[in-house]
Amino acid sequence: MSEFQGRVAVVTGASQGIGRAIAIDLARRGARVQALARGREALDETVALAGNPEGAIVPWVCDVAASDEVAETCAAIVVAEKRVDFLVNNAGVTRDGLLIRMKDVDWETVLTTNLTAAFRLSRALLPTMLRARAGRIVNISSVVAAAGNAGQGNYAASKAGLLGLTRSLAREVASRHITVNAIAPGYIETAMTAALPEGTRAALQAQIPLGVLGTPEDVAAGVRFLVGDGGSYITGQVLHINGGMYM
Ligand code: NDP
Repeated sequence: MSEFQGRVAVVTGASQGIGRAIAIDLARRGARVQALARGREALDETVALAGNPEGAIVPWVCDVAASDEVAETCAAIVVAEKRVDFLVNNAGVTRDGLLIRMKDVDWETVLTTNLTAAFRLSRALLPTMLRARAGRIVNISSVVAAAGNAGQGNYAASKAGLLGLTRSLAREVASRHITVNAIAPGYIETAMTAALPEGTRAALQAQIPLGVLGTPEDVAAGVRFLVGDGGSYITGQVLHINGGMYM
């Protein structure tokens, strides 16, 4: 039997990059993955790229920054699937700029999408996990939560906020056998980092002891570990997947 046969996973931001790799990885191991993002076409591409996995990928168009859409989508998932075993809060955006010139909208968009959405999804899906007395939540943070990054005050604040949320929620739900952890990726080859100018990219690569950017699959492997049997006694922790760039 596949490792995650019969399990239901909710993965946000599953239409490309890291979230897509996580969704495909879990589905190939038997999970029924509820894939959330705003773009339907890209979600369908995730389903197509997975081929015919042992599990399934079910696309849900949902703007995780919109409170009502999160509530409606989570309720519909619970009705349709009857259970939720894993929640991966991965959706994220950047709106970079020096703080002194940062517009309110750029602060609010990043905080709402990267941090508030993780709170709302957890709040909406936890009752189902609590009833089952089981569950795994993984929040995708970033190396900049620990290291900081000039020009990313909003993004670093959102990702550091996720770590506080992770540790506090881990304490709240541990007695019900629900674990809550974070992964802090370094620089990973996705659309987010493809946008970097070549010079910046080369400079970044030079800071990575392992000498290369990571792949979405490197992060998916961390999620697989934390939600799998090997992660059962790990909670409130941050798994750094960064090629050694921050130790
Ligand atoms: P991408 O920009 O490639 O993908 C982001 C995903 O999030 C897309 O699927 C996008 O889909 C979705 N998304 C964005 N906004 C919303 C929203 N409001 N509602 C629903 N879905 C949304 O990012 P990555 O794959 O690179 O990053 C994934 C996560 O990993 C992010 O949280 C990022 O901060 C984090 N991370 C990435 C690193 C990197 O180097 N790439 C390093 C460290 C952390 P759509 O636009 O269709 O909604």
